[in-house]
Amino acid sequence: MSQPLNLRRLAIMPTLKCTLRCKLCSNYMTMFKHPEHIPVNELICDIDRVFELVDYTEWLQFVGGEIFMRNDLSDVYAHCLNYKNRFDKLILITNATVLPCEKDIYVFKQYGRHMQIQISDYGKYSPQVDAMTELLRKDDIPFVVKKYHGDLQHYGGWVDNTHFEDRGKSKDQLWEQFTHCGQVAMRNFHMYRGKMHGCARSLMASTLGKITPAGRDFVDLYDKSETDEEKREKIRHFNDAPRVSCRSCISFGDDVERFPAAEQKK
Ligand code: SF4
Repeated sequence: MSQPLNLRRLAIMPTLKCTLRCKLCSNYMTMFKHPEHIPVNELICDIDRVFELVDYTEWLQFVGGEIFMRNDLSDVYAHCLNYKNRFDKLILITNATVLPCEKDIYVFKQYGRHMQIQISDYGKYSPQVDAMTELLRKDDIPFVVKKYHGDLQHYGGWVDNTHFEDRGKSKDQLWEQFTHCGQVAMRNFHMYRGKMHGCARSLMASTLGKITPAGRDFVDLYDKSETDEEKREKIRHFNDAPRVSCRSCISFGDDVERFPAAEQKK
């Protein structure tokens, strides 16, 4: 019997479409030429497959793009209830430009305190913050609002991590950056279309074709050339050493220049 595989955070991306066009989007949504919604049956299949490999995750997250652009994800959230004892909280991240649909709310109520909606408040770019908080409060659905406008922005604002060329860091510099990386500390694993990576940058830069990840940087849930135990072992060791994506990453350290969040592309 192998050791349990317990994660801290696992984020699934059900869409690359967004209502905003943020210049410094850390998931690079504006760089995709043909952004798409991932079909519900594919998402359900990925979730079933993940829970064949992973025993437990503290947070099961859905991030975009903007998830509430879709009015067909309630079936996915409802499906996750089958695994309710395998994660602590369902976390949904939104930019408060569109309200969740009635079917979503119906499912959210079944989660009780077992979920949280994290609202990124980008000021004038998040026109539904008040309506959303009122709606969620009415149905006692847990939420937090993170302020990303004006003074005292969450994390001091955003970093410009939109470049992909190798920055020529030495081995020591890479280790120093990796050791202090918040994504590593949070064990913030990300998944898109059946591929799981150790951080969002590794996943999205690879999906865009901007970098070629090393074999140890990701797991393809459906790769038949590896056994499930080999996949589990790779996931366990994602954060053992810097990955290919670190070579071009500006990192999220306190000393990295911050910019106002959500500045829009023309
Ligand atoms: S690429 Fe490396 S430094 Fe950048 S977020 Fe991922 S783990 Fe951290």
